[in-house]
Amino acid sequence: MGGGSLEASDKIKVIKGIGDKTEKVFHKLGIETVQDLLEHYPRGYEEFERPVPISSLTEGITASIEAGIAMTPKLKKVRNLQIVNVQVKDSSASMYLTWFNMPFLQKSLRSGYHYIFRGKVVRKNGVLVMEQPGIYQKESYYKLLRILQPVYPLTEGLTNNMVTKAVKQILSELSFAKDYIPKSITREYGLMDRTKAIREVHFPKDRDSMMNARQRLVFDEFFLYILALRKLKEKRTQQHSEYRMQECEECDQLIRQFPYQLTNAQLRVWQEVKHDLQGDFVMNRLIQGDVGSGKTVLAILALLMAAKNGYQACMMVPTEVLAKQHYKSLTEMLVSFGIRTCLLVGSMTAKEKRETYETIKSHSVDLIIGTHALIQEKVEYDNLALVITDEQHRFGVKQREALMNKGGHPHVLVMSATPIPRTLAIILYGDLDISIVDELPAKRLPIKNCVVDTNYRPNAYRFIDKQVAEGRQAYVICPMVEESDEIEAENVMEYTDRLRETLATQVVVEYLHGKMKPKEKNDVMERFANGEIHVLVSTTVVEVGVNVPNATVMMVENAERFGLAQLHQLRGRVGRGEFQSYCIFVCGSSSRDAWERLEILNKSNDGFFIAGEDLKLRGPGDIFGIRQSGEMEFKLGDIFQDASILKAAADAVKKLSDREVDKIFEADPGLENKILHKGTGTL
Ligand code: ADP
Ligand code: MG
Repeated sequence: MGGGSLEASDKIKVIKGIGDKTEKVFHKLGIETVQDLLEHYPRGYEEFERPVPISSLTEGITASIEAGIAMTPKLKKVRNLQIVNVQVKDSSASMYLTWFNMPFLQKSLRSGYHYIFRGKVVRKNGVLVMEQPGIYQKESYYKLLRILQPVYPLTEGLTNNMVTKAVKQILSELSFAKDYIPKSITREYGLMDRTKAIREVHFPKDRDSMMNARQRLVFDEFFLYILALRKLKEKRTQQHSEYRMQECEECDQLIRQFPYQLTNAQLRVWQEVKHDLQGDFVMNRLIQGDVGSGKTVLAILALLMAAKNGYQACMMVPTEVLAKQHYKSLTEMLVSFGIRTCLLVGSMTAKEKRETYETIKSHSVDLIIGTHALIQEKVEYDNLALVITDEQHRFGVKQREALMNKGGHPHVLVMSATPIPRTLAIILYGDLDISIVDELPAKRLPIKNCVVDTNYRPNAYRFIDKQVAEGRQAYVICPMVEESDEIEAENVMEYTDRLRETLATQVVVEYLHGKMKPKEKNDVMERFANGEIHVLVSTTVVEVGVNVPNATVMMVENAERFGLAQLHQLRGRVGRGEFQSYCIFVCGSSSRDAWERLEILNKSNDGFFIAGEDLKLRGPGDIFGIRQSGEMEFKLGDIFQDASILKAAADAVKKLSDREVDKIFEADPGLENKILHKGTGTL
């Protein structure tokens, strides 16, 4: 990079054009330093093609048209959204264009003027429209033809242009990028120079160069992550246990009391966990099992065992909704054994929290269930012997560490439903032993699936009416809109309004989205769990772990916009009880690929199989497509898509001597922390 004066560790304020206000907006994306901004990689690229006639547009594609404004634009307000609508036409046809929250366009788009509009073609009320298209003067558009333009992840108040400019400036002024990987390795694996890779990933010369650059950067992400795990493992293994537990009669009693027989897989994993808890060394174990395989009871058994041995134990989950649910079922199951439980979540009042801290410290409770609130500094445990994290992929390794450090060296149990093949799991959870619950409870009726187009909606609604009349409940997952949380929330609310009109009058419909306060979310979830709400319209916030066995319908709108693994998680919200359950995937696209992909879900209910098929279908070329799992996020790397790079990186780390590993970490004392805390991945 140029011979300028910027340092990687400089605050982004040093960049021209970034003042206090813009700096704050960047902070929202976790970008504080020049280095952070360099690692704010594009989520894709735009390649501008020649404009096409309006009459040739089809649903789902992104295209450019050259057209004239046919009338004065209209501005309308829907709740807190301002929508500009305008009709344009070329010699072939006319169509409508729509923009959200850009009211000034009403004045600046003048009737009779010609522009090039580029955007996604969608179907609204039966006709094709373009939403949120870019607007270009003809000359400037033609200059951009065929160049790969970076498209960055954004947040409110930040435009793609602002990010592009800032990154350009850094690249011209920063002399080189830090490279942690030993030369011997970059040579052996044929990796592009890191400085060049960073440049090329932002502003690629061509597609090939971009792919090579990306490969190098993904390798780095994986390499450093695996390296940090290796350090962790060194620290942990063979740690003598301060909490050796005794066999506990109550656990067997609890197993006999369950309304069902444990599966063989559950019994086997319970033996493994029990063996660890009774052994000489500290447990570090991952329990992996598909959604619905019954991991919760294993956690409950382990918690009971710890409590009966006189220790405290806690379980951390990613959402308050889930925390409450676990807390409730746990308390019901364990109260007869004299176990005292409590809940600790962020939305509690300061007073409630203070009181809870006191009960925990004085060991007036045995088991504590909660969210991140469990690792706040103020929480002091007494004899914390076991720490469980559920749906662990949502937590950083560091958070897991923070929780561990609350005790002496407590046993650690991590539970995950992300379907990763064993070979990858061994790499990604290198610091843990792995148990797999590879069997679903018997007697469970397989979920019936269908993939349908939007014309099927009336049938789906009638079906939901019928299910509700029979006493069941339904989820409807609403169109995801990437651009903004506000629009996403808006969609959910609008959809809810429509459902309330469409469904039978006695059907109670409510909504849930990420912008609601935790308390509101809890409240809605609780009413849904109690059966007071029949149909829950939601974004993917329900995806994680929620258990409402009476819900039998999962309807997903715009299913083509989700990763298959995520759809599989969503589907896991139904089929949890004795009733036949149904999953309706509504495909909003007519593209054959989208349908083929969704067909995989139609054919199989097995998460591992689905992940593998998805990968095969997409092939290695489709790098910025839908992410396989919205959860295990590295910045660039996708553990499925880039499985071969992951394996290569693991292989490379293995070849290093301890001395070489130490050297890498010594060169940058903050590195380990950075990798595990935020930089790479949220594993
Ligand atoms: P997950 O593995 O996704 O966390 P849960 O632990 O939430 O799954 O279990 C899903 C549902 O299956 C719960 O309603 C639970 O009571 C039930 N369940 C668990 N184990 C069994 C079993 N052996 N037989 C029948 N039902 C079970
Ligand atoms: Mg679960």
